[in-house]
Amino acid sequence: METLAGVTRMRLVGGNLALDFLNTRAGPPVGPPDDDVLTGYPELVAWGMYAGALSEPEAKALRRRSRDDPGGAQAAFTRSLRIRDDLDEVFRAVAADRSPSVSVLARLRDDEADALGHARLDRGRAFSWTWRDDKTLARPLRPVVHAAVQLLTTGALNRIKGCGGCRFLFLDESKNRSRRWCSMDDCGTSEKIRRYVAARRTRASG
Ligand SMILES: [Zn+2]
Repeated sequence: METLAGVTRMRLVGGNLALDFLNTRAGPPVGPPDDDVLTGYPELVAWGMYAGALSEPEAKALRRRSRDDPGGAQAAFTRSLRIRDDLDEVFRAVAADRSPSVSVLARLRDDEADALGHARLDRGRAFSWTWRDDKTLARPLRPVVHAAVQLLTTGALNRIKGCGGCRFLFLDESKNRSRRWCSMDDCGTSEKIRRYVAARRTRASG
């Protein structure tokens, strides 16, 4: 729980687990990110809990396991950054109406095959993949990878958008597909202020 405060610095505004995973890095719409809450394996676990991908007991078990196997935890963390880079490439391409590279899609397929290899089919109202039995250190990544593939295969691709004010991606679920900001409170407001100041300046000089 001690690292949870750090990861909650990033709002969950993506509307999809995979997009929220990309939004663990912040910064301007183009160019390199200037903030990153995924700084180590404990933060990956804390983020998984924050985003609802891990239960508290699962997070606790993973923290214990990572202390017993620091090398394995480091490998899982390195892998999570590679997966984030891959998903970043895929969804930024989709948001810009471009096709992701063949190689990145092949890696995503392998990650999904691995995720499903550790999943089980559980019956709720419908059947769904769960990772209740997965005790591996890569557990936090499984639902992220699966959410990405689900979104790509069954989602509305033209609703995947980049924020006008920052590098966050989100699923636009508004009726007329008019959402432009990750959040009205952040980027939406600063844009409103910018326009207001610009309009006042125009009036003052006119
Ligand atoms: Zn934004």
